[in-house]
Amino acid sequence: MKAFGPVPSRRLGHSLGINNIPPKVCTYSCVYCQIGKTIELCNERQAFYKIDDLAEEIKEKVNEAKKRQTKIDYLSFVPDGEPTLDINLGKNIELIRPLDIKIAVITNGSLLNLKDVREDLQKADLVSLKLDAVTRKTWLRIDRPHKSLNLRSILDGMLEFGAIYKGEIITETMLLKGMNDDYEEIKKISEFLALLKPAKSYISIPTRPTAVKGILPASDQVLNISYQVLKENLTNVEYLMGYEGNEFGFSGNIEEDLLGITSVHPMREEAVKEYLKKAGADWRVITNLIKKGSLTELEYQGKNFYMRKLPVKA
Ligand code: SF4
Repeated sequence: MKAFGPVPSRRLGHSLGINNIPPKVCTYSCVYCQIGKTIELCNERQAFYKIDDLAEEIKEKVNEAKKRQTKIDYLSFVPDGEPTLDINLGKNIELIRPLDIKIAVITNGSLLNLKDVREDLQKADLVSLKLDAVTRKTWLRIDRPHKSLNLRSILDGMLEFGAIYKGEIITETMLLKGMNDDYEEIKKISEFLALLKPAKSYISIPTRPTAVKGILPASDQVLNISYQVLKENLTNVEYLMGYEGNEFGFSGNIEEDLLGITSVHPMREEAVKEYLKKAGADWRVITNLIKKGSLTELEYQGKNFYMRKLPVKA
């Protein structure tokens, strides 16, 4: 199946997934990969499927969804591998453009040093880039790239792409315990993102079994610090931690709304107080959520923040 869904996605709304790469052909073999080990570590762009076949399958899926009156916000290239390895990516985007639905590509960005990849991605409306590290040692340890890849060229390629791209760039940084969770790395990631200027930067953690055993998410404390450090350089930072967070929190259930908001952004103590006041509730709601283990209290630069507790790994 090369097209699947639509599935709900916090980043992309109702997203019809497009799998343009056979499982698991990738330029990386990330320790945290949640779709299993990389079967073919590869750096050469090639044709995997016949262009017309892929476009036809996508059109069929869109027609089916229309018949069922199911909304599609994005057609998203989100394969079990690296989508830019597909040499026909740009042509595929052109072929599905007449469907008049926005197109997204979720890429690890490792081939952005190549002009043809940048040109293909320019045809999409949204590009999500992975940025787990900006120091070589950490990048090698986490993303385990194909040996021909060079981090400096990738970062330069991302900046070059960011400077010409008219669509929306978002980024995703996976934070792992003992790997990229030190202050220096996070600070450097934040500085790089400040140059790239993405519309939104997501901080994520593994929420499903990882390719390498024993890979753990960064601690609650580190997630809070990372959020604050990224916020120093960026206006739009959110968590992506396996919850479908509701950042506006208007369901009317105070506990659920607070958990929804704090799964996306940690809340400052004053903001929590303000929220409770408006909702006609008091601090007992917070004490109760902390007691139940759903919420955690964290300190950063002398201020208290409240964040939804990390999901327990499967
Ligand atoms: S880049 Fe994505 S698909 Fe490739 S190994 Fe890493 S997490 Fe898995």
